[in-house]
Amino acid sequence: MSYLYEGTDRRQVYVGNIMFGAGQPIIIAGPCAVESEEQLEAGIAPIADKIDMIRGGAFKPRTSPYSFQGLKEEGLKILQKISQKFDLPFVTEVLSPEDVPLVAEYADMLQIGARNMQNFALLTAAGASGKPVLLKRGMSATLKEWLNAAEYILKEGNMDVVLCERGIRSFDASTRNVFDLAGAVLARGQSCLPVIADPSHGTGVRELVCPMIKASLAAGLDGVMVEVHADPDSAASDGQQSLSPEEFLDCLAVIE
Ligand code: PEP
Ligand code: MN
Repeated sequence: MSYLYEGTDRRQVYVGNIMFGAGQPIIIAGPCAVESEEQLEAGIAPIADKIDMIRGGAFKPRTSPYSFQGLKEEGLKILQKISQKFDLPFVTEVLSPEDVPLVAEYADMLQIGARNMQNFALLTAAGASGKPVLLKRGMSATLKEWLNAAEYILKEGNMDVVLCERGIRSFDASTRNVFDLAGAVLARGQSCLPVIADPSHGTGVRELVCPMIKASLAAGLDGVMVEVHADPDSAASDGQQSLSPEEFLDCLAVIE
């Protein structure tokens, strides 16, 4: 029993008026966390006509409980406002099953983060919400575990699932994670679902993000999700792996 191969064709996933898996890579960008309306707008405005979708965390899964936890519903409201302003759909993370109705009320796509990849109650609730879901690979998850996590969403009758490779743990701390591009390509071959890459968390190092964007698209993935912040050095989270709008545009210019 598996829904991973439903049909004979590759799955196309609509989010608003964009489509994952239709041949054209989908570019998602925005800050790690929504910090304020001004911050989000300053990061998105310069890149708005080069991206397909906005990202930004309102509920943040931080390693330390004392780190910035996100603006929660206020962050969702800001995301909705900026999304409407630039006519771009947005994806944002949901951390617990209880929050799914609230996040689904605002977001165009629900993100399930690496730390929650095997939160089966959350996977089921996200599946039942009927919203498209972006499912990150857990930092210590095998491909089989990742695909089985997707099954929990599909099983609810929700086929709108996009997988996202975001790096896995290794013994070497030179990069935050090991960006498993080969694993992402393999996961794409082992399911009908679109697979995108997040080279920001995948590397944790600003200078490595553009090379891995290029590699992901050259490898035939269905898109990339990139952390872009108006002023990376002042970001509330993940500034070290965030690109400035200018750096991001320079990277895209090389790809086009
Ligand atoms: C994020 O995308 O902001 C995030 C927390 O990612 P991950 O779950 O991959 O760590
Ligand atoms: Mn982040």
